[in-house]
Amino acid sequence: MTGQKKIRTRFAPSPTGYLHIGSLRTALFDYLFARKYGGDFVLRIEDTDRQRLVPGAVENLIKILQEFGLKPDEGPHKPDPKYAPYVQSERLPLYNKYAKTLVERQMAYYCFCATERLENLRKQQEAQKQPPHYDGFCRDLSATDVQAKLAQNAEYVIRQRIPKTGVTEYDDLVYGHLQFKNELLDDSILVKSDGYPVYNFANVVDDHLMEITHVIRGEEFLSSTPKHVLLYKAFGWTQPVFFHLPLILDEKRQKLSKRSGDVAVEEYLKKGYLKEAILNFISLLGWNPKTADEIFSLSELVERFEVEKVNKPGAIFDVRKLDFIDRQWRKRLNLKSDDDPLFRRAQTLLKDFPGNRKVLELVYPQILERIAGPSDLEERMAEFNFYFKEPRYDASLLLWKKLPSAQAKLNLQKLKRFLAGLKPEDFIATALEAKLKAFIAEQGMATGEALWPLRVALSGQKNSPGPFEILEVFAKSPAGIKIALNRIDKAISMLSDISKD
Ligand code: GLU
Repeated sequence: MTGQKKIRTRFAPSPTGYLHIGSLRTALFDYLFARKYGGDFVLRIEDTDRQRLVPGAVENLIKILQEFGLKPDEGPHKPDPKYAPYVQSERLPLYNKYAKTLVERQMAYYCFCATERLENLRKQQEAQKQPPHYDGFCRDLSATDVQAKLAQNAEYVIRQRIPKTGVTEYDDLVYGHLQFKNELLDDSILVKSDGYPVYNFANVVDDHLMEITHVIRGEEFLSSTPKHVLLYKAFGWTQPVFFHLPLILDEKRQKLSKRSGDVAVEEYLKKGYLKEAILNFISLLGWNPKTADEIFSLSELVERFEVEKVNKPGAIFDVRKLDFIDRQWRKRLNLKSDDDPLFRRAQTLLKDFPGNRKVLELVYPQILERIAGPSDLEERMAEFNFYFKEPRYDASLLLWKKLPSAQAKLNLQKLKRFLAGLKPEDFIATALEAKLKAFIAEQGMATGEALWPLRVALSGQKNSPGPFEILEVFAKSPAGIKIALNRIDKAISMLSDISKD
């Protein structure tokens, strides 16, 4: 890329208080593209919608991007005096200056329409099943009229003057050559009556002044882009390269929204997903590496990333795939419990059982084996409660198929005696299984008639890890195998009560 301008991408979120999954993807692609071509990755805060401001949101955003390793080269936290400030609300004089230029060039105009008039217009258009649009009432006001109104301090907005005919076209790096009929574009507002610019205007001014070469953002902005192109033309500025990313869809193929489930990255972190997995999963939303391997770190993504492999069709957000990728990353990282967010999440879910850490460490591999991933940890966690508190269950659960209670009781008594005679080192699931099965055979018990009541005595559940795995955990836990033996005793006495009935 020698001789060409330095690549500059920007991530331009609105500070809404959380990071949307789609925004993280945009930030990732901005980062990948900049890193791939030795460019700069800029963070700009688009806070011109004053009603949506959330205190602390900017700091939170910077923190979370850094946690994911997507460190912006410039931004409010690291300003370059050539481009600062990086927060739009601090750049108002610039937008006003450029809006005036547009008015002078007849590419924008003052509009004095009252809210009430606009409201009626909207209702009429709705009744006529027309898309809402401005009717051009102030478009051709004479200069004298405009001056008179301004002199009276009348409230105004500034609107973009879209040509009534012709087409606006541009090339998108992903979507190719696009054409839009100007007659379908609305004379929308560029500067509001409070003096704040709207997104469509501010992003053009800033992308130009910040020398952004590539505008990477979600497909939902594809249809606003012709308005931006018209503004670049009106100013006589070179437009950046546009690069839109496909929509992210939920499993019903609707645009991913709060209705579809969690959309905040913070929620996924809270659930215990690994950052590496989230980033890896998100990279595949619309980008296809075209390799059998899909597990990539951030630096591997930089290496492999190619714009040509970005797809146009919407990308489905499939939580099962996220779970799968998380599992692969868990294997790759082989984390210690303290560094594992899923372990910490499991610990939080066990808050009613203090002092659980040692036991949880023993049980955790079983949890990982049985859950789909962080997505179902919370709902599945109760299945493991029996490790932390005495289970309550109905005595009938001890009876496997049509096993008479007296027989179940006898089997448990024999098993208990046998287990009580074993040494601590015998309680390794595989070795224990061999020993116990040999004993069961020697005693002439049917395997199911022995192991079912044993497992239920220990877990109180119809479905649970096997008795050997459970016994290994108990033997290694601080309370020792005694807990298990007590539970078998309890089951024996419950069976005695049934036999009496
Ligand atoms: N502020 C816009 C957003 O929140 C940025 C869109 C763009 O990248 O141009 O998504």
